[in-house]
Amino acid sequence: VSRLSEIIKELLLNVFFVIFPLFVYQMFWIDKKRNYPKWDRVVIFLFPLSSILLCMSFPITFSSSFHFDLRQIPFILGCLYGGYPLGFGLLIGISSYPFLLYGQGVYINFLVICLICLVVPLLKSKFSSSSLRKKTMTTVGISILSASSTMIFAYLFIDIPHLFSAQFIGVQAFGMWLITYLVETLRTNIRLKDEIIKAEKINVISQLAASISHEVRNPLTSTKGLIQLMNQYDFPEEKKKEFLKIAMDELDQAQKIITDFLSMAKTKQDKTDILNVAEELRYVIDVLCPYAKMNAVEIHTDFIGKNYWIDGEKQKLHQCFINLIKNCIESITDKGTVHVKLSNLQDQVLIDIRDTGCGMTLDEVQRLGTPYYSTKDNGTGLGMMIVFNIIKSINGQLDIESKKGKGTRFFIKLPLALTKPLDS
Ligand code: ADP
Ligand code: MG
Repeated sequence: VSRLSEIIKELLLNVFFVIFPLFVYQMFWIDKKRNYPKWDRVVIFLFPLSSILLCMSFPITFSSSFHFDLRQIPFILGCLYGGYPLGFGLLIGISSYPFLLYGQGVYINFLVICLICLVVPLLKSKFSSSSLRKKTMTTVGISILSASSTMIFAYLFIDIPHLFSAQFIGVQAFGMWLITYLVETLRTNIRLKDEIIKAEKINVISQLAASISHEVRNPLTSTKGLIQLMNQYDFPEEKKKEFLKIAMDELDQAQKIITDFLSMAKTKQDKTDILNVAEELRYVIDVLCPYAKMNAVEIHTDFIGKNYWIDGEKQKLHQCFINLIKNCIESITDKGTVHVKLSNLQDQVLIDIRDTGCGMTLDEVQRLGTPYYSTKDNGTGLGMMIVFNIIKSINGQLDIESKKGKGTRFFIKLPLALTKPLDS
């Protein structure tokens, strides 16, 4: 009995080693990985490797010459998701580990790992496009095969009691089933997060569209008026020139509104860049200008001569500011102002966005960022969640002060970039 409980303990520890890096990945890396895309490959290598090495360090002692552990699970998954590069990387990591020198069984375990490394990556492309059911069937199938071949080799080459063999194969298969589900859930969650951000962006664009078209119609109407006027009466040459200039300016204005709006709506692959906060804020405020006008809101800024540089993704930063300032505009029911100020605090840039809108109670402030929390008829309650996400992903901080009936103030602190672009 004590032997059995010993084995169960060792087994549970192994299961823990396989699961633990996945949790760490989910908790600490997912939000960071966009900013350090180069490091993602290293992390994706280190996580299964640490699982494997931990499993090998605390194996289940089968007999004095043979140790069993769950290292095959992360190894198989590594080969399936990462193909040959990851498989060989892990193999090198395993071979350089001193704990490998455990009796004769070592060679058998190593032989099986080598076989997995040669064969399993071939399934990668087919695997990545199959359904969850097929994926679990594949991983469980491979793990049963690899566990049984380990056991068969052990039985053939070294004399081990084959008492527990079936159980170990079962445990490995069950462990694999569990882990595959976990990995797939994790991947779905990452994908969903991106999807939500995209969907909300489209939603915001459609909400802004009415004000944009309204704002484009104004210059068109006045230009049309001018042309009609010039057609009806014979003006002196100078007057005509003046009219034409006004008409051109109006059309330029319309063109700029449309260009800005379209460039915001474009979703392209975004990468980290060194960004001038004032420039990005000014762009966002230009896009929101028609919306503010329609809601009788004025936007005041003080960016002149304030150049602070941060590391971030342009589109994400735009989305963050648009969501925040749009909320400020919407909080104003009658007439009001939104102030956007910039300053710096040591190694941070401070963006202070303040409205004279309806404000919130402390309770409401605390609910901000909860998905689907909205007090608006056509609200989605995703805007603030995305704001929090984006700020967190660039290592920033968001503080909120609000007074019911008076207004709300958002303080965003973002770390300054260490380097400035060369041309500034
Ligand atoms: P939505 O704008 O779609 O309702 P958000 O996540 O952007 O979703 O905002 C959630 C809720 O937070 C809003 O419905 C509103 O009640 C409140 N809120 C956000 N920003 C402000 C603000 N500046 N002033 C007052 N209330 C706000
Ligand atoms: Mg909103």
